[in-house]
Amino acid sequence: MTALPPGSTIGILGGGQLGRMLAVAAAQLGYRCHIFAPDDLSPAAEVSAMHTRADYDDEAMLAQFAEAVDVVTYEFENVPAATIARLSAARITRPGIKALKVAQDRLEEKQFVAELGGCPAPHAPVDSLDDLHAAIGRIGTPAILKARRFGYDGKGQARLATPADADAAWDAIGRQPAVLEGFVRFEQEFSVILARGVDGDIRHWPVAENRHRDGILARSTVPAMGLAAEQAPGAIAFAEKLAGALDHVGVLTLEFFATSEGPIFNEMAPRVHNSGHWTIEGAVTSQFENHIRAVVGLPLGDTALAAKAAEMTNLIGDEADDWAALFADPAAHVHLYGKGASRPGRKMGHVTKLTL
Ligand code: AMP
Repeated sequence: MTALPPGSTIGILGGGQLGRMLAVAAAQLGYRCHIFAPDDLSPAAEVSAMHTRADYDDEAMLAQFAEAVDVVTYEFENVPAATIARLSAARITRPGIKALKVAQDRLEEKQFVAELGGCPAPHAPVDSLDDLHAAIGRIGTPAILKARRFGYDGKGQARLATPADADAAWDAIGRQPAVLEGFVRFEQEFSVILARGVDGDIRHWPVAENRHRDGILARSTVPAMGLAAEQAPGAIAFAEKLAGALDHVGVLTLEFFATSEGPIFNEMAPRVHNSGHWTIEGAVTSQFENHIRAVVGLPLGDTALAAKAAEMTNLIGDEADDWAALFADPAAHVHLYGKGASRPGRKMGHVTKLTL
């Protein structure tokens, strides 16, 4: 395996906080990052050596970007597949297009998981209001209607308490292709995060238990306890199988519900994940460093816990406004993403605390 040498440039599509933390990890290893994003100045561009501001379908700028970098990766899965296809014709792109295509479509993702022997929530495709009524007949309520594409942090989702909510839910998600999911009565939520190297070596971090508020991750704790801990080995084995089937290179995240019937797959992300931010201080090697290592072809670092326990709390909306109080806690690892003005539901930063 020939790794790209330090000093090489990693092109990252997307300019959010995940790109920012990837760029910081890359810099630590001696690599440079070049961010490609449509925003004027983004959290990632602010800490990277280079920045191209252009739309994802700007062919001329994509061609220039491919020339300027040694390898391409992405920090969010809503980059158009056509963009990755174009770039991967010119430059090695890791992860490849297969993981992106599967993860972009909630229906394809569930079908892919089921074919591999995983267990997604009961679901049915919905392309029209008639489909939705039929799906409710099969799956029942309560249920959640989720847009197939471009959803994140609970966006593009509508809950149905009773069948009478169908019309409102269909309107709420913008009458677009969707899946209806049965409401899962879970005891806990947890995520499996792994990294797969160019040579197929796979390492997973200890499983995190995740708590959400309003569809947004609020807190991750490691190690997970209770049912999530019991179900972690099976979920990890499945995630490893899925990573192999996708021929994935880089970090891959799978989210699960721990239920009395076993782990139910919720969704996947072909990238570093919010529930892995604790790894920056809490693991021997962070998810960001291992993603960079995988992308440039280096061997992966150790993913073991570096403390007894870790807890990551997101700073959402105005929760980062009182930064002075956050920095006053000497045990808190405070991360702020440089986003400027806070808005409700916007991820502004996070705080990790370790139990040593
Ligand atoms: P998602 O964007 O699909 O991960 O959904 C965000 C959050 O909504 C999840 O982490 C769960 O807390 C909740 N949720 C999503 N789908 C379901 C489901 N089928 N049953 C119960 N809760 C769900």
